Amino acid sequence: MRKTKDLLLKLQKLDDGIDALRADEESIPETKQELEEGLEALEEKVQEAKGKSVEFAKKRKELEIELDSMNEKKNKFKTQLFQVKSNREYEALQHEISGLDEKGSGLEDEILGILDQAEQAATIIKEEEARLKEESSKAKAEQAKLDQDLEKLRSAIAIKLDERTRMLVGVDKILLKRYERIRESKNGLAVTSVENGACGGCFRRIPPQEMQNLKRDERIITCEGCGRIIIWKWE
Ligand SMILES: [Zn+2]
Repeated sequence: MRKTKDLLLKLQKLDDGIDALRADEESIPETKQELEEGLEALEEKVQEAKGKSVEFAKKRKELEIELDSMNEKKNKFKTQLFQVKSNREYEALQHEISGLDEKGSGLEDEILGILDQAEQAATIIKEEEARLKEESSKAKAEQAKLDQDLEKLRSAIAIKLDERTRMLVGVDKILLKRYERIRESKNGLAVTSVENGACGGCFRRIPPQEMQNLKRDERIITCEGCGRIIIWKWE
């Protein structure tokens, strides 16, 4: 019986190792995905700044066209100043001209503001593009390393699975099924040992009679608290 129990403990330890490797294996695609998402966010920032830059250029063009047509109008009024016949007409034209002057300087201010914003956007584009380039090459190196890690993990798992197959040759199938069933329902831990007079899985105190049974080592004993197989530690 002790040999079987030793084997169960060894099997549990091996499975713990495989589970840990598998958890690492599963985390790798997630990490890669996070790297991708980080780059996408940076790319988005660049595109956003570029979009703004296009908007500013468009707006600037519109304002410049408006300013040109206003200046044209103003010049026309200025020429008319020499042709009017009454003071009233003259004053009315002057009034129009000064109104256009005011509007024109407002437009000029607006254009300067846009130029300022466009310059800022250009700086952002330059900075973000440099950052994207840097992060891309970092991510590439990191992804290559992750791929290597994945390879290593997979071969480590394969070695352990091989060891497991060899370990289980000749082991009672019913016992194994029982082991697997408990493992499935108990978060991977099917076999535990007595720790300070309690079950190592759920820490329930083991009654004296059960302790005796455990030491006597005549059968497989499961914890009444959690259902795991408990094994007395002989060492
Ligand atoms: Zn227990």
